[in-house]
Amino acid sequence: MSKKRDISTEPTLALSVVIPCYNERDGMGELHRRVTAACEAQVDNSFEIVLVIDGATDGTREAAFSLAHMDRRIVVIDLSRNFGHQIALTAGLEFCRGERILVLDADLQDPPELLGPMMARMDEGFDVVYGQRLKREGEGWFKKSTAALFYRLMRKMVDIDLAADTGDFRLMNRRTLEHLNAMPEQYRFIRGMVNWIGLKQTAYYYQRHARFAGTTHYPLRKMVLLAIDAMTSFSIVPLRLASHLGLLFGFIGLLTLGYTIVSWLSGNVLPGWTSIAAIVLVLGSVQLLMLGIFGEYLGRMYMETKRRPLYVVNEIVASERSAKSEASPVHRLQEMLKEQNRA
Ligand code: UDP
Ligand code: MG
Repeated sequence: MSKKRDISTEPTLALSVVIPCYNERDGMGELHRRVTAACEAQVDNSFEIVLVIDGATDGTREAAFSLAHMDRRIVVIDLSRNFGHQIALTAGLEFCRGERILVLDADLQDPPELLGPMMARMDEGFDVVYGQRLKREGEGWFKKSTAALFYRLMRKMVDIDLAADTGDFRLMNRRTLEHLNAMPEQYRFIRGMVNWIGLKQTAYYYQRHARFAGTTHYPLRKMVLLAIDAMTSFSIVPLRLASHLGLLFGFIGLLTLGYTIVSWLSGNVLPGWTSIAAIVLVLGSVQLLMLGIFGEYLGRMYMETKRRPLYVVNEIVASERSAKSEASPVHRLQEMLKEQNRA
């Protein structure tokens, strides 16, 4: 069953905490304890914790289900397979019902206890309060330097102003979320999309901790993919690079042509295979690079035109309260799932 965009999400709770979870089994108990404590301190019982299980294979799903049976404030959205962090987050954001929404990672790198101060900051009149890291603990120099490089590159290339060292850890209000949920694109870079919306936002500085359990799910390969998503979804600068490089190499080519003609006229013809080979190689690689960039954008346009749903939900576990509430998209989805099973 795919989600439906026309499901209206009436905000019936003060707060939703949306947490994408991949293989996070060992941290689930601690996550639940700290998030509920932080929420209770702010909004009593008027909150939900939306755990999106992104095709986990280590028992995270079962851990989440048993938490949901213990605690009625937990909603579990079990996706059919691993769709990736940004899509899992999208699923949670589309189903949550809070007036305010906190986006959190399951590994407790971003302390849920900051909810209080972030809510206070929002009360000052901000639509979005995003966490900005002061210092990274427990992450290797490689992760730190590639992340730093990513933010520098993003700022150079992208037309929007993305603050350095911000992840998806942020508190936003319903108004912002509705704009975000209205964006249909397949390639999602959520922190950039929130930035693009342009409502009033502010940074909240904090220390990022080491993971509570497990290891990072963002190895270099995924970080590079996220960076490509980020750059190609917000900028056509890489496309423009093609024409700039084309001009540059055309100019060099003209000079080289002049040089060869002059040498030919002076009867000074050298057996210049090396230079010819070098030129061919350089031009060839530049052309391939540019073709690759064109292909990247073309592929994205192709994927977008298919208009596939972003994710497929396998199962939803929610309390009686949320399941019976008419306003709840979770309830409607469960009804749709039942109908689909009957058919
Ligand atoms: N995650 C996910 N699907 C994935 C990879 C990660 O839902 O395919 C979740 C993961 O469980 C965590 C969050 O996304 O809650 C961030 O991942 P991680 O902590 O591994 O990234 P890092 O903090 O190292 O950048
Ligand atoms: Mg993490």
